[in-house]
Amino acid sequence: MPAPARRRELGRGERVLPGLWRLRLPLPWPGVPHCNAWAVAAGDGVVLFDCGMDEPGSFGHLERAMDQVNLRPELVRHVVCTHAHSDHYGQAGPVIDRSGAQLWLHPDWGPMRLAVTDPDQATGRRVEIALTSGVPEEPLRAYHESHKGMGWGVARLVEPDHDLVNGVTIDTDLGTWYVHETPGHAPSHVVLHQPERRLLVSGDHLLGRVSLYFDYGWSPDPVGEFLRSLDVVERLDVRLVLSGHGRTFTDVQGHIDANRALVQERLDATEAVLREHGPITAFAAVPLVFGGDITAANASWWLSEALCFLRHLEVTGRAVREGGAGTDGPEAWSLA
Ligand SMILES: [Zn+2]
Ligand SMILES: [Zn+2]
Repeated sequence: MPAPARRRELGRGERVLPGLWRLRLPLPWPGVPHCNAWAVAAGDGVVLFDCGMDEPGSFGHLERAMDQVNLRPELVRHVVCTHAHSDHYGQAGPVIDRSGAQLWLHPDWGPMRLAVTDPDQATGRRVEIALTSGVPEEPLRAYHESHKGMGWGVARLVEPDHDLVNGVTIDTDLGTWYVHETPGHAPSHVVLHQPERRLLVSGDHLLGRVSLYFDYGWSPDPVGEFLRSLDVVERLDVRLVLSGHGRTFTDVQGHIDANRALVQERLDATEAVLREHGPITAFAAVPLVFGGDITAANASWWLSEALCFLRHLEVTGRAVREGGAGTDGPEAWSLA
């Protein structure tokens, strides 16, 4: 009997607290079935923290989720994006077109700007990183071709009206939310803290399920930045986390500790691979670090994560690389 086609979810809205709603929006990604937008009452409208990805039918899911809690996109006064990934920023354009809302975003959103304004250059940049990392040319060319012309999940480029940086505040009926910069997952990542109610809009920095992802190639040391950002959140007084994916959760310290432990485990594994197999390309190291085969689904995620671990070992004086740019071959990594 053939496996039943995966049933796509619908947008769903639910009240978390009076004046605070979770809008759960479906995603087309395997293993990441949905993302969250959070609506918070603010005067005669709402502030929308994140807004979901743009794809066919996606705005209908947002409207449906809002309708279930008696809200409408027209009520959005501010779109506040925790970071410039498509599932958090993609529908900013349509929401703003409908409502006239203002957009708030961290200034380091360059990767998204490039992806939207010059998708071929953005793809070319990824291909170059892959070749330097030792990905063989043929599967890479096929991958590149199959992804050509595919959208980036963003309806249109929207420039922020306001920069989301340390010290900036957003006022709502639930009180004032304070911005804390938390780069690592993405260079543009921030969290928003509401101290009296001890709430945290955490984006993808802290998720209910411990799952690492880092943008590679846009900042000096994403893993180091992520670890420092965990320290930032650890200092905040938080009772309830509203994360970019999955349900709300309360055990903040447990999640911070679990993220630190997983980073340490992967760094140790990367170091062990260099010790045993170095010099080795990042591409060859991936299955050894993660203990699984590279597939089309995990390839780019795992490769950028492995590159970020290697880079962190390099920055902290534990690894070196040779080859790469200006030479014939890919970069090879070994222990320092
Ligand atoms: Zn993200
Ligand atoms: Zn996300």
